[in-house]
Amino acid sequence: MASKVKGEKSADPNILVSHDRLYKIDQLRALNIGKYLPLPQLVTVGDQSSGKSSVLESLTAIPFPRGQELCTRYATQITHRRDDHSFIGISIIPGPQASAEHKEHVESYYRQVDDTAQLQAEFAVILDEVNTRMGIRTPNNPTGQHTFSEDVLKIEKCGPNEDYLTVIDVPGIFRTTTEGITTEKDKSMVRDMVIKYIKDPRTIILAVLPCNVDVATQEILALAEDYDKAGERTLGVLTKPDLLKERSAKASVCALVLGKRKPLNLGYYIIRNRGGDDDEDDLELAKREDMFRQEPWRDLPDERVGVGALRERLRDLLGEITDQAFPKIRTELRDMLVKTQNTLRNLGPSRKTERQQQQYLATMAGKFQELMRAALDADYSRNKAFDDGELRLITTIVNHTEWFDLTFRKSSQTYLFVKQAGLSDDGDDSQEPPALAEVDPTAFPELASVMVTNWSTAAPQDGIMSWIESIHRDSRGITLGTVTPAMLSSAFRGQSVKWEIITKQYLSLAILAVHKFIMKALEIVCNCPNVLPRLSAALLTQLLASYDKAMEQAMLLVEIETQRKPYTLNHYFNSNMQKVRGLKIKDQMKPHTERITRSGGEEVRQYIRPEKVFSVVENKSNAEYSREEIHDTLRAYYKVASKRFVDYVYYLAVDHSLLSGPDSPLLLFSENWVLGLDDRKLANIAAENHQTSDMRAKLEKKVQDLKEAIEIL
Ligand code: GDP
Ligand code: MG
Repeated sequence: MASKVKGEKSADPNILVSHDRLYKIDQLRALNIGKYLPLPQLVTVGDQSSGKSSVLESLTAIPFPRGQELCTRYATQITHRRDDHSFIGISIIPGPQASAEHKEHVESYYRQVDDTAQLQAEFAVILDEVNTRMGIRTPNNPTGQHTFSEDVLKIEKCGPNEDYLTVIDVPGIFRTTTEGITTEKDKSMVRDMVIKYIKDPRTIILAVLPCNVDVATQEILALAEDYDKAGERTLGVLTKPDLLKERSAKASVCALVLGKRKPLNLGYYIIRNRGGDDDEDDLELAKREDMFRQEPWRDLPDERVGVGALRERLRDLLGEITDQAFPKIRTELRDMLVKTQNTLRNLGPSRKTERQQQQYLATMAGKFQELMRAALDADYSRNKAFDDGELRLITTIVNHTEWFDLTFRKSSQTYLFVKQAGLSDDGDDSQEPPALAEVDPTAFPELASVMVTNWSTAAPQDGIMSWIESIHRDSRGITLGTVTPAMLSSAFRGQSVKWEIITKQYLSLAILAVHKFIMKALEIVCNCPNVLPRLSAALLTQLLASYDKAMEQAMLLVEIETQRKPYTLNHYFNSNMQKVRGLKIKDQMKPHTERITRSGGEEVRQYIRPEKVFSVVENKSNAEYSREEIHDTLRAYYKVASKRFVDYVYYLAVDHSLLSGPDSPLLLFSENWVLGLDDRKLANIAAENHQTSDMRAKLEKKVQDLKEAIEIL
């Protein structure tokens, strides 16, 4: 490069170490690792017009727009990449806040030129295009919305012998706003942009200070000090020495370079860039730097003067920073690899072909069935997903069934039966049914058509005998006996009207538990947020059909039990009847019992006279007798029928229809179901959308890059 005037790098072994690492970093950069984590870089900072862009131009030999009107409005990043071919690529990296639209708009910009000469020739045009893309207001783009942009102009210089330097030119810090051009918001945006770059410990800060202003007034040094407390990576670059005329001014700058004034840990360098407003544009670097052979500059140490010296120092510094950053980069790369691999794994396998889609869903179905079996066996130690109580299906069902059984005993009768001493009476069972958990009707709106909405049950009423009397009166016919089967039927029908609602409530609870389990289990086995809703939607129709079926079966049982003529083969019915009769006679005889006692008052025996027995039986009217007969038969039958009913509702409607029967909704999501899907349905559920396949491709590339990067290190 023509700009190298001072000596070439010496073969210092310490520098070689850094160079080896620099070379590795360079390879990482070629792998685009810089996209994932920050690599060592240089940034020029300073006031507007201090000569930042000029310094970069001198360092990189890339022509930069200089001068007042074209002062930098966005960060420009110049990277160098080794490539078989020489070219310069120009692109735009969207800012962090960019909208999707703006992102696409700027990312689609790309220009390529052969060399710096061509870039120089076309730069004005290219910058106009870039400004327009970014939406920056310039004389050529008066409709632009912004003065500054967070987008980054990226200039990538490629070639077989490229340097290691990456440099960034940020807009100059300004202190006063100009009406119609710069606002307070711009001011803080630029400041934030500068800070974003200088706070990175891997950034070397080139604080650019023109010789012709007082260093003490340069805010940038204070800012750099804030973020580089130890001053390990801040370097002063003094520009425009040629503009100094007075001897005293020159002396003062020399003092700065010699470290006699406002010392900076890494010191000051003095360089002369191209001037803007004279005819020196063509003045070669070598010619420009001739001035350093004159007083007072020639007394300054060589390694502090000129672009060559600065560049050499920068390479060393970059090497040192890289050395320091190296172990951290390595750990970060590893961490990032693990994270990326996890994200990739969570995406599941690729699903482009029908087979892949089938495989994907079938694996999921297998896991679902396993979870389901464990849930039915209450084998909760098999999967830690069961730590969440919602998945403990069979336990929930058992609790609900207990509720059903107790509620049935306690309040399924319309009227309380008459208390009979010596007979356990279900209507008066002391055990209260467990309280129902709150059922939130909005939790699963898809169940609205299946679930019951009324969750209350009325307590049984008193007054059974007068109710039986009215039945007896209203349905008397001409019969020999007093109790007809029709009377019993209508008594039982009246006594069992609440069976339907209680059964519906129980079934609703069971359906809810099963549905909750299915949805939760699907969530566990399907870790793709796109597939999950499509899969559950595809299952839903069939699920609802099986819930409906279970409810229908329960209602069929209600119908059979309550609407048909009461009948049972169960011998408990007869023994119950007889037991009641016996107990009643015992009660009725009690007042007629006579006792024989010894003189001491001790009872010897009890007896009843036969004529007393007649009077007890004969004294009852026909109606009275019939009512008691109906009541007692009803009670004996109710007990047997309700036990039979509760058992069967559980067996048929819950266990068979909802849990373990062949048409159970739990068995629906199975490999067979997956295999039965036609191509279109399969793709609808399991195909990846573009986003996912794009993401997978990106992640795969990233994993590969990171692996290669770790290999390099
Ligand atoms: P920036 O705003 O900090 O990027 O400053 P520029 O690099 O655009 O420089 C501002 C003006 O100062 C331009 O006209 C440059 O040509 C001029 N300039 C920069 N460095 C020097 C120098 O060393 N000598 C002279 N004479 N002019 C310079
Ligand atoms: Mg500039």
